[in-house]
Amino acid sequence: MKKILIANRGEIALRVMRTARKMGIRTVAVYSEADRDALHVRYADEAVLIGPAPSSASYLSIDKVIKAAKLTGADGIHPGYGFLSENAEFARAVERAGITFIGPNAHSIELMGSKLAAKEAVKDYNIPMVPGVDEAIIDVDKAKRIAKEIGFPILIKASAGGGGKGMRIVEDAASFEPQMDRAVSEAISAFGDGSVFIEKYIGSPRHIEIQILADMHGNVLYLFERECSIQRRHQKVVEEAPSAIVTPEIRKRMGAAAVRVAQACDYVGAGTVEFLMDQDKNFYFLEMNTRLQVEHPVTEMITGLDLVEQQIRVARGEVLSFFQEDLKITGHALELRIYAEDPLNDFLPSVGTLDTYVTPSGEGIRLDDSYEEGMTIPIYYDPMIAKLVTYGSNREEAIQRMREAIDAYHIKGAQTTLPFGKFVCDHEAFISGNFDTHFIKNYYSKEHILEQQGTEMAVAAKAGLRFFLEERDRLRVNNRIPSSWKNNR
Ligand code: ADP
Ligand code: ADP
Ligand code: MG
Repeated sequence: MKKILIANRGEIALRVMRTARKMGIRTVAVYSEADRDALHVRYADEAVLIGPAPSSASYLSIDKVIKAAKLTGADGIHPGYGFLSENAEFARAVERAGITFIGPNAHSIELMGSKLAAKEAVKDYNIPMVPGVDEAIIDVDKAKRIAKEIGFPILIKASAGGGGKGMRIVEDAASFEPQMDRAVSEAISAFGDGSVFIEKYIGSPRHIEIQILADMHGNVLYLFERECSIQRRHQKVVEEAPSAIVTPEIRKRMGAAAVRVAQACDYVGAGTVEFLMDQDKNFYFLEMNTRLQVEHPVTEMITGLDLVEQQIRVARGEVLSFFQEDLKITGHALELRIYAEDPLNDFLPSVGTLDTYVTPSGEGIRLDDSYEEGMTIPIYYDPMIAKLVTYGSNREEAIQRMREAIDAYHIKGAQTTLPFGKFVCDHEAFISGNFDTHFIKNYYSKEHILEQQGTEMAVAAKAGLRFFLEERDRLRVNNRIPSSWKNNR
């Protein structure tokens, strides 16, 4: 592979290009009209304009992406995450064009893209599943009966769902039917597929996922877990590796289960098997994401591996150069997703122009971003500005570095999840490791952030006053120093 096209934008496009460059591979960017000045376009060796701002006419256009690859002579395509990364038709079209798709085969993507097909595929592999039905609901009365057996609350889920969308909690039998109707119509409009099923609603779950890596020669390894329980709208905001509650024994069992899920779909490349863990530390298979995950950096920090490099090597047909026994966890890593969202207003998008954009750096800090001061966050795409990753020899150190990195990060022009990240790092539940996916509902309110900001402003004002008083005294002293002495210094 000599030249790869990155069918994506933003931080992930840049991140993939950095590894490609490190490996001596040339890079091709694709971009929409909204991204003419984007950093991934500047960083790439070549760049091809593929259409207007809306994703459907640019980053989601299979034809345009493949045309750009042919035009530039790219022999590999990396899809990143989101966009076409979990589109089996795209993977097939890439291969048909004689280009290597840096990802799993189309069959695995298809199978795991449907939560129902995935459950069906792993059925014979002894994988613990959330109680529920494992087929699309056609007969509502029957579904209601099963829901009663499982016990309310239950969750209605869209089989084709993703990105935290397409889920509805049903509290009791009376609201089953109306919720069901809504879930089906939402699934049709959001995913073009009205298939829904039900799962027991796990009351106090943690989201814990396993990174896996497989080559074309039958080797499948697990790269340990990531804890992703700090979520809003069923979407992750803070992730870490390892999890504060996973013991070596549970890790081994979850790892082995994840490997079996990968084997069930003949998986090749990097993938993630997501699990829910209940209060008794029982874990249940949720779904598999057949791509590089947003939060993959925390795994890279604790394993020392470059997952994009591994993806490229596997796609070239190489055998994995290490065994399960060679892998070990060193230290602890945290990731905060910095979204242009307002934590004071229900985490609603708050895009704008980054009038101030000053980033932290230093030991134990990794920043994956794609912005510079003065740039505008486009309204067309995911509003994530950056992923702030901190590493420490243990969890406390990683958390302390995150606090300091957040303080050193200055953004003006958009509201962001930075102050929320600070709130999490300072919260007793997070620090003690005793939290679940309801962290925000249970502990967070905007008053905390306002209070925090108020305290910070008071501290800043005090510090400013002290500085002024000290400076004033020093200036006076300096003025009295004889000029001859000053010159001798
Ligand atoms: P991850 O699963 O890697 O932790 P997310 O769930 O946030 O991360 O999804 C990764 C990216 O893909 C995000 O940009 C998200 O908006 C997008 N995404 C995931 N699933 C869908 C979907 N079904 N429809 C639209 N966008 C999606
Ligand atoms: P998506 O494809 O949108 O990522 P997932 O099945 O991975 O959907 O679930 C996303 C999140 O929704 C989980 O991390 C968890 O917070 C919540 N969730 C999903 N299924 C359940 C369940 N059965 N009980 C409780 N929470 C759930
Ligand atoms: Mg998921």
